Amino acid sequence: MAKKLPSTDVVVVGLGWAGSIIANQLADTGLNVIGFERGPWRDTASDFNLASAADELRYSRRQELMLRTKQNTCTMRNSASETALPMRTWGSFHPGNGTGGAGNHWAGITFRFQPHEFRLHSYLTERYGKELPAELTLQDWGTDWEEMEPHYAAFDRLAGISGKAGNLKGEIVPGGNPFEGARSAEYPNPPTQQTYAPTLFAEAARNLGYTPFPVPSALVSQPYTNSLGVKMGPCTFCGFCTNYGCANYSKASAITTVLPALIRKSNFTAVTNAEVLKVVMDSTGTKATGIIYVDANGDEFEQPADIVVVAAFIFENVRLMLLSGVGKPYDPISNTGTTGRNYAYQTANSVQMFFDDKNFNPFIGGGAIGMGIDDFNNDNFDHSGLGFMGGGSTRVTPIGAAPIDSRPVPPGTPTWGTKWKQATVKNYLSTMSIGCEASSYAVRTNYLSLDPNYSDPHGRPLLRITFDFPDNDRRMAKYCIGKVAEIAKSMNPREMVVKSQQGHWDSAPYQSSHIVGGFIMGADPATSSVNKHLQVWGVPNLFVVGSSAFPQNPGYNPTGTVCALAFKAAEAISSRYLKRPGEMISV
Ligand SMILES: Cc1cc2nc3c(=O)[nH]c(=O)nc-3n(C[C@H](O)[C@H](O)[C@H](O)COP(=O)(O)OP(=O)(O)OC[C@H]3O[C@@H](n4cnc5c(N)ncnc54)[C@H](O)[C@@H]3O)c2cc1C
Ligand code: SF4
Repeated sequence: MAKKLPSTDVVVVGLGWAGSIIANQLADTGLNVIGFERGPWRDTASDFNLASAADELRYSRRQELMLRTKQNTCTMRNSASETALPMRTWGSFHPGNGTGGAGNHWAGITFRFQPHEFRLHSYLTERYGKELPAELTLQDWGTDWEEMEPHYAAFDRLAGISGKAGNLKGEIVPGGNPFEGARSAEYPNPPTQQTYAPTLFAEAARNLGYTPFPVPSALVSQPYTNSLGVKMGPCTFCGFCTNYGCANYSKASAITTVLPALIRKSNFTAVTNAEVLKVVMDSTGTKATGIIYVDANGDEFEQPADIVVVAAFIFENVRLMLLSGVGKPYDPISNTGTTGRNYAYQTANSVQMFFDDKNFNPFIGGGAIGMGIDDFNNDNFDHSGLGFMGGGSTRVTPIGAAPIDSRPVPPGTPTWGTKWKQATVKNYLSTMSIGCEASSYAVRTNYLSLDPNYSDPHGRPLLRITFDFPDNDRRMAKYCIGKVAEIAKSMNPREMVVKSQQGHWDSAPYQSSHIVGGFIMGADPATSSVNKHLQVWGVPNLFVVGSSAFPQNPGYNPTGTVCALAFKAAEAISSRYLKRPGEMISV
């Protein structure tokens, strides 16, 4: 029996990017806010000290910043005809744990989605009509660019995003990404410096008529004081960035940008090592009355609250809703229900190039330092007659070639022994890759549900992923990587290896942590779970925020949009809901 605690105004589940932003914005309105975090309190000085932060064995191999799979994991299968099995080590994606969430060990590439993305189904239907592949269950978001842009700008200022505007108030600006939506202001920081590999790629892309631009980056390029008065230092290209915490206060995350200000507010409390087990609903099922959590000693508590915000990353957002009986579980056969609907991933493609005459010094790098092109992304090119929709963000971002993980050798090299060592020596300095991180569009057969066979240590069913890459995405991947290979070829490598997403989804190799859907936003409660304010349809005091709200995934990284949605939800709560609690949109 859970011990009942005194009520508070707001509980926030999860203190990663989304939860910390919302908690901070709501604390600023004077509300008493309690944030619950499953993992430990993390802080740059103590957790990511300069002397220990670059420990490849500890962080990259043993995955110390990630959720322990014995605490919670997912089961996976490629189709409903298979029995799902649990993921016992993280491969395909790397969920976070502890304050800061996955934002501590993310790479920091910070794109905004393009305006047409928020009305993708309508837009593509208008442009291509019957050519839209029948398997796709694309949906509009129920919001638009004009509503999103101010929240993207707020996140830029919070995180100190470094980059070059390509479209400033409708004017195309040389040097930036001409395909981006009109931004209201230049990036808060200039682009980072570039290393040799991205510079070479940009030159090759430009020679072929494409438009290279510096990849928008949450690695600050110069000393920066953010919108909350928190100070950050310039990135040193230390090369231990993706999968690591930053020792240098340079990589924006909740612990470097929000929590240092939030934790000083007397009306905010962080409860760490506290796993939320469910949202408590009243007998009508139309009101959340609080949450149940279990602390590190295994004791259970009920924390009542007037407003409940769930920002626990896509998997736990969806699982908590299923476990709490919020919304109707999605059924792919009847195509009814919304919780679990439109789960999608990202399509990973690359061209690796081996040179004889180049030295890239690949140990110099960072998660979001690089140059990219958007000419083959989303609907930036005409899809008529191509037989697919979507595309990918093409870029060279050398993250730092760490000694255990980075041993690039050409195909056919033995996997151990003298020949392998010789090939490592020959290729380590002179290999580079062009990545193409591409869209993943929703189909009826990809969804999230509770697993009937496997449970967590509390006896609650694990989340089951049923996913495979749709034919649309495989056709898109083949086309886009063909274009990327043309750029690579023009750079005259000795040898190149072209990889595009063609087979089934395999949960073992890392692909990306850009996982979306399952509790999506929209304008119609029959096909979406939350409205454009991230408010759950039919449960007005419950808000669910994160990439779970994306109806499909464009060829961009998600976090800029996750954080813009967090600002959007917080603004709707403070400026509208508090004045008139109830459904902010009635249908
Ligand atoms: C290696 C890696 C590289 C990445 N690179 C990029 C990139 O370059 N660009 C980009 O846009 N995105 C990138 N991402 C994705 C990015 O990290 C996520 O989109 C972002 O962190 C999502 O923020 P969030 O707040 O929704 O979730 P999280 O950051 O995961 O935070 C959720 C928090 O909720 C907590 N929680 C979960 N369940 C419970 C529970 N039941 N009770 C209490 N607390 C709970 C978790 O412990 C976690 O701290 C990357 C991710 C990884 C892992
Ligand atoms: S590369 Fe830059 S941002 Fe990344 S961990 Fe190193 S110093 Fe920090």
